[in-house]
Amino acid sequence: PDLNHKPLSKRWDHRLSAESKSRQATQLKELAKYLSKPGMLSLGGGLPSSEYFPFEEIDVKVPALDVGNHEEITMQIGKHDVREGKSAYDLSIALNYGQGSGSAQMIRWVVEHTEIVHNPPYRDWGCTLTPGSTCATEHLYRMFLEKGDYVISEEFTFATAVETSGPLGCRFIGVRMDDEGMIPSALDELLTTWDPISRGARKPFLVYTVPSGQNPSGATMGLERRKEFYKIAQKHDLIILEDEPYYFLQMQPYVGSDHPSPPAPKTHKEFLDSLVPSLLSMDVDGRIVRLDSFSKVLSPGSRTGWITASAQLIERFTRHNEVSVQHPSGISQIILHRLLDETWGHGGYLDWLIHLRMSYTERRNVLMKACEEHLPKEIASWTPPAAGMFHWIKLEAEKHPMFGKKSVKEIEDEILETAVQEGVLVVPGSYFKSEARKPLEARELYVRANFASAEFEQMTEATRRLGVALRKSFGLKE
Ligand code: PMP
Ligand code: PLP
Repeated sequence: PDLNHKPLSKRWDHRLSAESKSRQATQLKELAKYLSKPGMLSLGGGLPSSEYFPFEEIDVKVPALDVGNHEEITMQIGKHDVREGKSAYDLSIALNYGQGSGSAQMIRWVVEHTEIVHNPPYRDWGCTLTPGSTCATEHLYRMFLEKGDYVISEEFTFATAVETSGPLGCRFIGVRMDDEGMIPSALDELLTTWDPISRGARKPFLVYTVPSGQNPSGATMGLERRKEFYKIAQKHDLIILEDEPYYFLQMQPYVGSDHPSPPAPKTHKEFLDSLVPSLLSMDVDGRIVRLDSFSKVLSPGSRTGWITASAQLIERFTRHNEVSVQHPSGISQIILHRLLDETWGHGGYLDWLIHLRMSYTERRNVLMKACEEHLPKEIASWTPPAAGMFHWIKLEAEKHPMFGKKSVKEIEDEILETAVQEGVLVVPGSYFKSEARKPLEARELYVRANFASAEFEQMTEATRRLGVALRKSFGLKE
């Protein structure tokens, strides 16, 4: 494509940590450039011969292209498929050492996919593979943060993202959120009024956010919210970590428990148009580092994902990969590549994602119906989630008989205990508080329910039990 009409990204030298700036290319990987010289005979490198890999072939059964048909096909992945003209990637390549960005074959696929879905509006963007977003987040903190820095996030957020920052000497600070996630004016106010002396830290510039199907709140930022948020990011020169494992778990609009959901998107275009545009898709400056992961759409154990960012940031990230994970497992890479590139193709993958969209829509609707039937509305309220796998139920702490006598945290503990006695497990909201040391406020009493895995009848029964537990705990009549 002609990218010349697009601007170049901004430079981020002033945002990189001392650790990241000090990273150099590994000398051994640098030698690879000489291998392109015609006639070169190599005694360099440390690559073992594939003759000594005891893996001749991997056969993987997967759904055929038309995923709705429940037909399966077997992908035969051989050691020398490239030499035999059967494929662009084979076991002899995938099972050897590769580049810190991941294999050229997989990178080509994720770049194409990113272009189809997000089409970043600047010229010099790129991708590099990660062993999942957990690892990538840790790399990115090291890339941007110094000890003592704050990371900004929603006031409730993915607990692991907070836990990762602690041992690096960093803290999280939460911004007020509503059912569309972080509130841009609250972010602006936090940054405008930041006083480095009283806060004991420089003005923060790194934001960790989950814009779609946020964990734990299920909140999804709408288009206007995203635009406003991006403006604030520009105003304060922020770097945004857009962590989007649930982007493709955006569901059909919720139209009430008594109405069937609108029919599935009929074309790939209709499907792509139904997705809220990503922050990456509006990023003219190259200040968004987007984290994609195959965990929630293909499988968490594949430990494969990728980041998309400006060439400068991608290069720094890749230097870190080289001296740590190197790249995701070659076994994962070749299975994913054979499936996504050579079996399904981009269109087939979009069909799979539509299939997931409809499946999660049905699950969400079952849970919403159960909540409407079984939860006491005088103390429990919620917004039906538009994406992800989490349902965030707000409870009225002030209406609890022990309010004022016990702390909100103690009331939360008591609710969990009562729920467990009734035989249902939900996660207390406080587990996700980004500022773990701050006491829970009355407006912050929540529980998180997951609708990704239980059978439909179990989901309904669990919700009934939760209703019983809440009525007991709040002293309400059956
Ligand atoms: N340690 C030594 C001494 C090595 O020679 C190598 C591979 N060249 C490694 C570690 C890297 O091992 P791995 O592939 O398990 O990261
Ligand atoms: N980010 C968020 C918001 C998550 O909820 C999760 C999974 O629970 C992850 C990242 C982990 O992703 P990965 O499996 O790619 O490390």
